[in-house]
Amino acid sequence: MKAVLTSKMSEICTKFKLPARFGIPGPNIWLEMDEYTKYNPINLGVGFADFAPPKHVTEGLAGVARSDNLLLHQYTKGFGHPRLVNILSKLYSKLINREINPDTEMLISQGAQQALYNIFNGMLDDDDEVIVIEPFFEPYEPMIRETGAKPIFIPLRHNGSNTGGALTTNDFLLDKKELESKFNSKTKAILLNTPNNPLGKVFNMEEMQMIADLCKNGPTLPIADEVYEWLVYKPYQHIRMATLPGMWERTITVGSAGKTFNITGWRTGWAYGPAGLMNNLKVVHQNCIYTHLTPIQEAIAMAFEKEFDLMINNPKQCFFYTLSEELFTKREFLMKAFADAGVNPIQPQGGYMIIADFRNQSTNIDLSKETGNYKDIRLTKWLARNGLMGFPASAFYSTENKLVAENLIRFCFIKRDEKLCAAARVLHDLFSKIQ
Ligand code: PMP
Repeated sequence: MKAVLTSKMSEICTKFKLPARFGIPGPNIWLEMDEYTKYNPINLGVGFADFAPPKHVTEGLAGVARSDNLLLHQYTKGFGHPRLVNILSKLYSKLINREINPDTEMLISQGAQQALYNIFNGMLDDDDEVIVIEPFFEPYEPMIRETGAKPIFIPLRHNGSNTGGALTTNDFLLDKKELESKFNSKTKAILLNTPNNPLGKVFNMEEMQMIADLCKNGPTLPIADEVYEWLVYKPYQHIRMATLPGMWERTITVGSAGKTFNITGWRTGWAYGPAGLMNNLKVVHQNCIYTHLTPIQEAIAMAFEKEFDLMINNPKQCFFYTLSEELFTKREFLMKAFADAGVNPIQPQGGYMIIADFRNQSTNIDLSKETGNYKDIRLTKWLARNGLMGFPASAFYSTENKLVAENLIRFCFIKRDEKLCAAARVLHDLFSKIQ
C-alpha cells in the first residue's frame, strides 16, 4: 500500500514540478545558517533591529486598530492608501526637488522587495540583461532570472591603494572600463543599491554620474534601491539617482518603511518614478496583491507626517537623522572590537552591516569539521558554534565571483549595546587565544 502511495505521489510531484523558469533551487543558505542558532550564539546574522521602533509609530498602529473609522479595516486604493501616497509624495518632492504626483508617480508595495518584483516583472523580457553590482541583496538574482532576463554581474573591486589603517567602503570601486563593457543593446536596466547592502558603500557623485551617463546612452533604466537612504554616516551623503540631471525621466526609486522606522515586519515599501514607467509596475501589482494592508499604511502615513514635520521644523529630533547618529556609535564600537581582535573590518559608509575579513585568523582555525561549499560558510559556522553568529558573504555574490568572499562574514550592528558588548567579548576571547 505504502509503495503504491509513494509512486502515485511521485507521479503527482513529477507533473507539478517547479516550473523551469525558477531554475534548480540550490541549498538555502538562510535555512542552513538558521540551524546554527541552536548553539545560542550572539546573533548578528539577521538584518533587523532588536530594539523597539519609535513609540509614536507603534502607538499610531494601536490607535488605528481602535479607530472609529471602520474603513481602515477594508481594502484601500490599489496603488496606495491615499494618506500614505500623499505624505510620501510630499516628502520625496522635497528631497528630489521636483513635484511628485501621488496618484500617478507613486506605488505602495508589500515591502521594498515586492516593489522590486513589480519592477522586474513589469520591465523585463526574455533575453534582456540587467547589470547587478556585487555584492548585492541576494533576491535580485532569482527575481531577475524568473522573468527570463539575465543578470550581468560586476563586482566592486578593491583598488589596492589602501596602504594601512582600516579598509573603508571607499576602497571598493567600480572599474569604469569594465562597467562600460557590460552595456550593450540588450541592457535593459542596472541595479544601483546605495547605500549598499551588505557592504555599506554609499556611491559618490562621480560614480553616480558615470552610471547615469551610461544609462542615458542606452537607454537603460536605473533601478535605484535606496532602502537605506536615511542610514548614512557623516561625512558621507546619500545622493538620489533621480536628482541627477536628466535622470528623473528614466529612474525608478525604491524605498522601505521597514528600514526607515525599524519595522521590517510591517512589510511596507514603495516605488516612485515617472508615470509612464510606473504604469508597468502597477499592472504586475494589481495582478498580484491588488492592494497592500490598509491599517499598516494608515499608521505609516501618520509616522511620516510626524517625521516630515520634524525634518522641516526640528531636524535634531527627527528619527530620519537620530537613528543614524545612534548607529554611528554602534558602528564605531563594533569596528574597534574587530580591530582589537585582529580581524579586518571594512568600515561601512551607510546601512547597518559590517563585512569583516577573517583571512588572518582563518589560517589558524580548524575548519575540517565544518560543512559548506565555500570557506566563508565554513568559517561562519565555526564562529557560530563558538559564540558569534554572522552571515557568510558569498551569499551576496554570483556563482562566478563567490570566491571573492572566501574570508568575508557580514555582521549586523543595529542591535542593543549589551549584545554588541557580548559580541566584542566573544571576539576577544576567541582570537586572543588563537593569535
Ligand atoms: N533592498 C535591499 C538592499 C535590502 O537590504 C532589503 C531588505 N533587507 C530590501 C531591498 C527589501 O526591503 P523590505 O524589507 O522593505 O522588503
